[in-house]
This record gives sequence, C-alpha cells and structure tokens, in this order.
Amino acid sequence: MSTTFTGFSPVQADGLACVICHRDYLTDTHPSRPVGIADATGSQVFACTGGCHAIATTTTTPEGGENR
Ligand SMILES: [Zn+2]
Repeated sequence: MSTTFTGFSPVQADGLACVICHRDYLTDTHPSRPVGIADATGSQVFACTGGCHAIATTTTTPEGGENR
C-alpha cells in the first residue's frame, strides 16, 4: 500500500528528508521508514521512525503547506 504525495521540497521528494519534520537525513542520520511515493519524482519518501511515520501514515495528502 502506498500513498502518493505532492507539494514536497526537492529533498523531501527525493526521500532525503523527513516529509513531516523536514529532518535532513544526509546530515542528521535518524531511523526512517518509507511512507509513500512523491508525485513529482516517483521516488519513495520517508518519515522518521516513530512519531513522524505515525503521522505520515495516518494523514492523507498534506494540504496547506505547514512550512510555507
Ligand atoms: Zn521526522
């Protein structure tokens, strides 16, 4: 089961950053799990294991852009 996400930053869409808290996995190694597919790139996107993963998997397509 996979969810398609839109509206992420390039690093999020490439799976290099958490889609929830924007943690950069290149500079801040943290356990993460795939939560779906970025519509723009077709790449898997990830969220931190634990809180962010739970949020990502219980929330439908994020709307409104929390970080804009
Ligand atoms: Zn996170």
